[in-house]
Amino acid sequence: MTRPRRSASVSTIHRTCLILAVLLLMPAIPIAQAEGDPSLTWVDCWMGDKAGTLSASQQTDCDAHYSHAPTHRLYDLRWVFLDVDEDDVDPDWMNTQLNNLNAVFAPWNFQFQTKEIVIIPDAVAESDDYYEEWTLRDILPDLRAQLNLSDDEQTALSELKAELAARHVSQEELDNITLDEEYNTGAAFRLASRARSESITIVIRPSLDASGKSGGPSPEFQLSRGSGIELKSTLLNGDSLTTLPHEMGHFFGISHTHAPDYDGAEADFGYSQRWGRLAHDGEAIERVLGEDYSQPFGEPYVPYDASEQKLIEHQELMGEAFIWPIWEFLYSGDHLKLNSLAELIQEGEAGETIYRINFERNYESSSDDPLEWWGMNCVWNSSAAEGQCRYSEAPMIRLNHDHPTLKDVIFFENGTVSNLMSYITPPYEDVSSRRGITDTQLDMIRFTANAPMRLLLRNNCLGTDLCDSTDPPDETDPPDDEPDPDPGNDTGNQTDDGDGNATGNQTGCQEGDTRPASDGCNTCSCDAEGNWACTEMACVDEEPSPGSGGLPALGLLATLSMFGAASLLKRRRVEV
Ligand SMILES: [Zn+2]
Repeated sequence: MTRPRRSASVSTIHRTCLILAVLLLMPAIPIAQAEGDPSLTWVDCWMGDKAGTLSASQQTDCDAHYSHAPTHRLYDLRWVFLDVDEDDVDPDWMNTQLNNLNAVFAPWNFQFQTKEIVIIPDAVAESDDYYEEWTLRDILPDLRAQLNLSDDEQTALSELKAELAARHVSQEELDNITLDEEYNTGAAFRLASRARSESITIVIRPSLDASGKSGGPSPEFQLSRGSGIELKSTLLNGDSLTTLPHEMGHFFGISHTHAPDYDGAEADFGYSQRWGRLAHDGEAIERVLGEDYSQPFGEPYVPYDASEQKLIEHQELMGEAFIWPIWEFLYSGDHLKLNSLAELIQEGEAGETIYRINFERNYESSSDDPLEWWGMNCVWNSSAAEGQCRYSEAPMIRLNHDHPTLKDVIFFENGTVSNLMSYITPPYEDVSSRRGITDTQLDMIRFTANAPMRLLLRNNCLGTDLCDSTDPPDETDPPDDEPDPDPGNDTGNQTDDGDGNATGNQTGCQEGDTRPASDGCNTCSCDAEGNWACTEMACVDEEPSPGSGGLPALGLLATLSMFGAASLLKRRRVEV
């Protein structure tokens, strides 16, 4: 399985640290903290507090920054190009992508800036074969390019471990890292990204089997496997702006508005099965929403000096929170809008069939009856110049963007803007038209940003005035409410990717049990110690090409199947 090592001597590794200060929407934002003066992250404060090693001044900083959730966030990005020639990396492309990303996320007070660009024209660990693996010794050239490690193998290994240890990777995890340990493409760049966990890593590579991949965080934060957003390098040749913000949505915990694989012309949500598979029997979500599930979700946050129990409860909530944004993406009966999660539960418990608003209809041609329609049920209809969703068959029901179940849920701004996590792309010029989210999706994004794994990221707003003058156009953002339901696919993967939710782990299972992860595309199995271990595979995003009307690309199912068959990753449970 091991690919012969490429000749390191000829691999020209260009490492460029550019800081691009061109932020179209936030021209006032300078580049963050001075080098050598890194501010503490939440994880630094949490670990220091538990170990009793915080100095007085550190404690003052921790109190100021990590006693409550921030109102604004400004994150650093690392752009890592694998198997891409330096000539193919146009700074204008990155600027355009970054400006668009910031335009999309500005209403939610999330902003991004470029911290580092790494171009590795002849990367070792870059393959379209998910199972292809290299030893750590093999991939040292890639790691050296990203992390400035020494030429000597043993020295490089020590330096790598020191970088990881400084970012609170557990000793147990560090002990498992040897020069003979094997890594596939994803594991290789995730190891490097964990050694730069203060920034969001975006990997651009040619062999990715989708236009983008991403996922939400795992509850545990001391793993050696970091996070990453993947983009296919063919995006470098085009002007598509929809992929990166969508993947960033997954990175911060929200999943698709649509669910895949419905054979019928309506999509039964499967209420009892979904509700019944909450990781902690609904107790974690009930702690937040109350017994009747009527309280607001708010913005759950663990102060750095809270008890271990508070952290555990937060991690448990990560296994159940995916249900919160779902209700707005469902309807009952004759396209009746649900008004709350409590209403969903009432109707579901009463035996009413609950349907999905947005779904993908996959049809395998096996009968002579022609279908009225197949593919994504919600699309931008370019001839009618409006957003529409289709339901039923003979006769087909076609609702437009003004329908109560669709307005400010799937479509926004008179139908000219679609949900960020949909595959619907109304026409756009400067900023991606896929940029609407509901209030419950916004809750989920903020909640995920407060996950310990995401709190490894440095928020450059804290302790600075970088974000004070940029109060974004909150006033103009659409009201709404609506999240996306599906734990469906996409999302989730561990700690990062996917949608966030990923993987809950819970205890008390029987060895050998398996269940789907909360993201819907990963799988969890019960280990010998009675803990759930979940795969952390990125769930695939396959974006339709612009103008295709939202019809799904054919590769999606095949790719999902491949991922579904992948073996479980080791060590994936919360340490308490
Ligand atoms: Zn997606």
